Amino acid sequence: MSINASYEVTADGGLIHFMPMGILRLSAKDAWNVIANLRPIEIGSQAFELSQDVSCALGNACLIEQANPSACALLQVKNPAMILMRPIASVLAEDALKHFTEGLYQLFQGRAAIAYDGNLTVAGGGEHQVAFNLWQVERDTASHDIYLSFSSLRERISLEQTKDGLQSDLARSARISLLGEMTASIAHEVNQPLGTIVASAEAGLRWLSRDEPDIGETKILLERIANNGKRAADVIATMRAMASNKKSERLPADINSIIEEAILLLRTDFAKRQVTLRLELSPMLPPVKANKTQILQVIVNLALNAAQAMSDGQAWNRTLCIRTSWGATDVMVNVEDSGPGIDPHVRERLFDSFFSTKETGIGIGLAICRSIIEAHGSRIELQSTPHLGARFSFGLPVEQTHADG
Ligand code: ADP
Repeated sequence: MSINASYEVTADGGLIHFMPMGILRLSAKDAWNVIANLRPIEIGSQAFELSQDVSCALGNACLIEQANPSACALLQVKNPAMILMRPIASVLAEDALKHFTEGLYQLFQGRAAIAYDGNLTVAGGGEHQVAFNLWQVERDTASHDIYLSFSSLRERISLEQTKDGLQSDLARSARISLLGEMTASIAHEVNQPLGTIVASAEAGLRWLSRDEPDIGETKILLERIANNGKRAADVIATMRAMASNKKSERLPADINSIIEEAILLLRTDFAKRQVTLRLELSPMLPPVKANKTQILQVIVNLALNAAQAMSDGQAWNRTLCIRTSWGATDVMVNVEDSGPGIDPHVRERLFDSFFSTKETGIGIGLAICRSIIEAHGSRIELQSTPHLGARFSFGLPVEQTHADG
């Protein structure tokens, strides 16, 4: 038997020599004999018992006749002579040997090629995870040459690990940003009623500490405290329902009363900011199908933004106009101010979470408004003229029984 026991470029091994993957040419002559003498597990069965003993026998029967440079590199052998004429079992870890002998058996049965992953045993100890391919060129056991190629899985594994890491980082940051959004929303929505509660309580104390305490005025302030406390609790309950994906309850509601309630809540803010309020509420509107707390939140946010824009922008005319009208199918609500209007450069980002041009702004108010109105099957429209003001408007569906009337 002539054996080409080197990894030099040879006539038949030229291609193999330059392959970027490890390739071993093996002699399977003795292995075919072992397989031919295997006994079937049961009489009449085509299955053969490949016990550990048989695996070892086959692994020892297949000798390495040729190794290309990539194979030597992966096996960490400097000199190919160290592995030539040695059994394949000497470079395969237990799992790889098992797959190899099963593959060998399949080649014996006429399959052309088998692929599997496993570990190489590298020189000096240790293992290296690789992807194996086992094949024979001539599908005939009269030919003794079979080929085993292997390429490192390290890069693929580390790429997958990086991808997994990135994905979990992304998932974490998405969770954190969702958590941040929720926290910011609660802080934003509860801040205003809490401010009113503190201011009203302080004013109430002053009325009571007068020489002649004003019980009437204190009663009004206590009512305001109770209303704002209830509103903060409602906001939190709605947020909790939103977070748990519960569909919010939508009942017939009178939009004009919701607006009037919002005005009551914002009265002190308007006075502080010297904002004049103009209400143009259309009488005889049909009831809308809405979640009252959420729509109250939208109106409070839009009206408060308008008041802030006018006072922060030092507008000399500070008029906030809230208008309702009966559109073709929806009840329309407009919140219009005479402030500085929206800077065209920021218009696209206005409804993004955490976008704010205010020094102490959280940038969550308009994002909340948009998601509430979209959940009601509608959209918030914005019209703005620089230096002349901004108008936010949205429609709300009416109760079905009133839709045609
Ligand atoms: P925040 O009020 O915390 O800044 P919002 O989401 O409510 O967050 O508003 C985002 C930004 O939209 C504001 O910082 C402001 O620049 C702009 N904006 C909102 N309403 C108006 C308005 N009526 N006039 C001018 N700018 C407005």
